[in-house]
Amino acid sequence: MNPSTNVDLTPFNTLALPGRAARYQKITAPEALTAPELVKEKRFVLGGGSNLVLTGDFDGLLLHMAIPGKRLVKEDAEAWFIEAGAGENWHDFVQWTLTRGWPGLENLSLIPGTVGAAPIQNIGAYGLEVADCLHSVTGWDFEKKALLTIDRGDCRFAYRDSLFKQQGWHLNGRIAITSVIFRLAKAWQPNMRYADIAQELATREIAAPSAQDIATAVIAVRQRKLPDPAVTPNAGSFFHNPVVEAVLAEALADAYPTLPRYPQPDGRVKLAAGWLIEQAGWKGKALGPVGMYEKQALVLVNRGGATGQDVVRTMAAVQAAVREKFAVELTPEPIFL
Ligand code: NAP
Repeated sequence: MNPSTNVDLTPFNTLALPGRAARYQKITAPEALTAPELVKEKRFVLGGGSNLVLTGDFDGLLLHMAIPGKRLVKEDAEAWFIEAGAGENWHDFVQWTLTRGWPGLENLSLIPGTVGAAPIQNIGAYGLEVADCLHSVTGWDFEKKALLTIDRGDCRFAYRDSLFKQQGWHLNGRIAITSVIFRLAKAWQPNMRYADIAQELATREIAAPSAQDIATAVIAVRQRKLPDPAVTPNAGSFFHNPVVEAVLAEALADAYPTLPRYPQPDGRVKLAAGWLIEQAGWKGKALGPVGMYEKQALVLVNRGGATGQDVVRTMAAVQAAVREKFAVELTPEPIFL
């Protein structure tokens, strides 16, 4: 282990926010995490930096996960079990599974980031969450000094949430995820219940889509609606969709009849944060160098030269506008470092 010092982190976060790490180490194999000197260090484990707000310099050791590898572990009558290293690019991994003839992850095409980061916030899109296709997560536990494998049922997956976030394990660097095993069921059904995907397939006149057709539709829709981080720095959806009591959702729908509402199994109602932000006047609006994207109000963008403090200011202004108009609290999705 031979960390670099005073490393610029701007290229390592998709919001392109400035900040330096006191120490920086690229990790390309799980064994590198076992170095005894790492235990006492203040750590942060970084994947693709696509769900991160860098609020300034980091005075600890930044472990940049770049463990490669993808393979079929086993196959039974019902499923394929595929393992991928934490550093694999998520989108490339999804496309690789599809070319191998293993469907299941296609709705999650083009999500930025790495395989190792996917379980942390239980990435999701178009009616699919990574938890739906995940078998187990393996990571190095710096406290127990052991490689742990956590089965899906113990990962406490919830909407954009998991054990890794809930326990603060991710933020305090307790665990570095080294690999993930996915379980892709052979009894595959296309998941096209989101209107954008159904519409895209209809436009292409595809009535019985393959997994690859769904991936192509998802990619087309995402490319139309979402900014490319390489061109317009962003961290994807910036706020969680709020889930509110049914009484509040009904009261809001009386006042705003076009309010999109998605009833949840527990009786509460999911609202679309992007719609609330747009109605509160923030679609395409900016405060200094940070604004909400003109084609999708849920995406916060750095229009050039922003700092983490600029992001915090715009975030607070958007939250205040939505609170004032709808009495709904928006919580940010990214991790703040
Ligand atoms: P959209 O289709 O404009 O829909 C707005 C919101 O309504 C979505 O956030 C979605 O919730 C919800 N929704 C739409 N159709 C639904 C249905 N049939 N059943 C239940 N909920 C429904 O959303 P979008 O912004 O273009 O995003 C499309 C998908 O990609 C969404 O699933 C979104 O979460 C995902 N995405 C995630 C990120 C990220 O950074 N986390 C970034 C971009 C897109 P859900 O968000 O709960 O699905």
